[in-house]
Amino acid sequence: MDAIGRLLDLRELTVIVDEQGNVTFSDLPADIREVARSISGVAMNDILTMGAGQLRDAVRNRELSPVEVTTAFLERVEAVEPQVHAFLHVDPELAFDQARKTEADVMAGRGGVLAGVPVAVKDIFDTRDMPTTAGSRVLEGFRPPFDATVVARLRKAGAIVLGKTNMDEFAMGSTGEHSAYGPTRNPWDTTMSPGGSSSGSAAALAALQAPLALGTDTGGSIRQPAALCGVVGMKPTYGRVSRYGLIAFASSLDQAGPMARRVEDAALLLQVIAGRDPLDSTSLDVPVPDYASQVNAGVSGLRVGLVRDFVEQDGVEPDIRKRVLETADVLKEKGALVRDVRLPHAGYCIAAYYIIATAEASSNLARYDGVRYGLRREVPQGGLDAMYRATRSEGFGGEVKRRVILGTFVLSEGYSEAYYQRATRARTLIRRDFERVFRDVDVLLMPTSPVAAVGIGERAADPLSEYLLDEFTVCLNLAGLPGISVPVGLDHAGHPVGVQIAGPPLSEVDLFRAAKAVEDEFSFYTEFPDL
Ligand code: GLN
Repeated sequence: MDAIGRLLDLRELTVIVDEQGNVTFSDLPADIREVARSISGVAMNDILTMGAGQLRDAVRNRELSPVEVTTAFLERVEAVEPQVHAFLHVDPELAFDQARKTEADVMAGRGGVLAGVPVAVKDIFDTRDMPTTAGSRVLEGFRPPFDATVVARLRKAGAIVLGKTNMDEFAMGSTGEHSAYGPTRNPWDTTMSPGGSSSGSAAALAALQAPLALGTDTGGSIRQPAALCGVVGMKPTYGRVSRYGLIAFASSLDQAGPMARRVEDAALLLQVIAGRDPLDSTSLDVPVPDYASQVNAGVSGLRVGLVRDFVEQDGVEPDIRKRVLETADVLKEKGALVRDVRLPHAGYCIAAYYIIATAEASSNLARYDGVRYGLRREVPQGGLDAMYRATRSEGFGGEVKRRVILGTFVLSEGYSEAYYQRATRARTLIRRDFERVFRDVDVLLMPTSPVAAVGIGERAADPLSEYLLDEFTVCLNLAGLPGISVPVGLDHAGHPVGVQIAGPPLSEVDLFRAAKAVEDEFSFYTEFPDL
């Protein structure tokens, strides 16, 4: 059954919270349902706009029940999904099972860090109880036998997994249009793309379908859609978060990270998912700070480098340039020391990224052969090779095929020196540029995306024009550095604008501090799209 169908089944499900905080279900009519809700004293709309930390506190203080919170968000999902298409799978029954379990934990005084907080999970993370497709036909019907480490950590912290979000196939894309299951639409303007590849996670947050979401970022897929949808998204330092159970695109670049409507909530989510995982040998064995408690530390004395080349580049829309410079002024007013910096090799980022990412993808995607996962297309009397070919021809979309072909070419005998090896050398130069600037500054300020909005279908005919949307985000992945996008307002046409703050390895605390100072100035989380 599709997501909407399942949700419709829940229409008459009512949650009653009595004065002792006990929760019961019943199939009561709508008017009684309203009475039941008012017992808790918190209206449904208030639940939708509360931050994750506030929801958690209300749950722990027994002002709200996890079941009630889950009901509010599932109803919202149902109401706006036809316009947004942020989800590939929603599972109300599972969500309520988890909510009841969390409820019991809270009653026993064991409410976790995210007790009762709903989370939307990008469909690239393995979930043992829900299908996992990575937005691809080739994984249609695939049900992983285990949870990704980050999903397991969320559940342990008491979070409620609402469902799996739409995305560009195998996270390859910047618009969400490369999903095999149809595009997601930007809640701020449904003729526009929400960005990608974590298109559904970003859109779900903007549409108030969830207070938290998980994304992945190989070249910008958390930060860019966060910017286009007016939400917060952080790509942590490479290795900060486990990749176990994350379907691989380009393993030396992939990183999971938090998305939320507020900086503090992103910090809370990172706190839960970060940390050493014996199942991922690239995960860092470094203690996880209490990020959320440090977001309000302010920026006094923080040395901020404004990346001039990026801000002044021709392709950057004037509104975006203006907002980045305004943000620099805000940081200065709040006590930061702002100066210009340059990254001399930044011009090579896009080329190096699209060579390295496709090379790694061509190897990672070789496993989808019709034998081990999801789709399998037999060719009568065709033999094994014909089955591989038919499965891949039908299972992979156009962009994925383009990348696999490109990646195979750049690694091929006689060409790998000219392409792959040179790209890895460029990567080293880019990394050194960053090492050099971080001797003089603590964080960098730059645009997240050169444009505020991309029309659906606008870049489909010209893949390069889509690749160029990543020019300010891919550098950080190549260097393994953390970056956060924080919304600062709307452009002249009413589309959200985000700015990006980056830092040296493991500087997430500083990024959250700086982003929170920016958020305090613009308070964009108090604005909502009209849906
Ligand atoms: N848009 C970039 C790409 O298509 C980045 C994707 C990502 O970060 N997963 O490769």
